[in-house]
Amino acid sequence: MKQVIMMKFKKLFEEQKSGLLYSYKFINEDFTLNKEDLSDESDLTSATLEQGMRMQLRSREALFLKKIDEALIKIQSGTFGTCECCEEDIELSRLEVRPTANLCIACKESEEIRETRSADGRKSKSMGSRSNLRIA
Ligand SMILES: [Zn+2]
Repeated sequence: MKQVIMMKFKKLFEEQKSGLLYSYKFINEDFTLNKEDLSDESDLTSATLEQGMRMQLRSREALFLKKIDEALIKIQSGTFGTCECCEEDIELSRLEVRPTANLCIACKESEEIRETRSADGRKSKSMGSRSNLRIA
């Protein structure tokens, strides 16, 4: 991938990361429940629900943050935009939609087919292996 394109993505990731870290901090700060607010049952229920939502949001953001960090490491090592499966360049159009993608469209599609198959009853696991697909 061209250096100039990689730098464009680097900037994008850094912006996303600082935005995430800001909200991440905010969520954490506001996370502890105020016991005085929990005077009756309905308050307790909504507070518990809110806490659950925050935890869900937090784990989703943590996961996204991890993906951004991984992408930044790849940019640094010069492997960003390379498919982890077939080692071809990931389509730029795909990266623009999903900058943290680590598989090209073809590999992603075959991965999804494989997942559907294994969810279908775990049949023919060896038939869908990566090495076989690459030969074909
Ligand atoms: Zn691929």
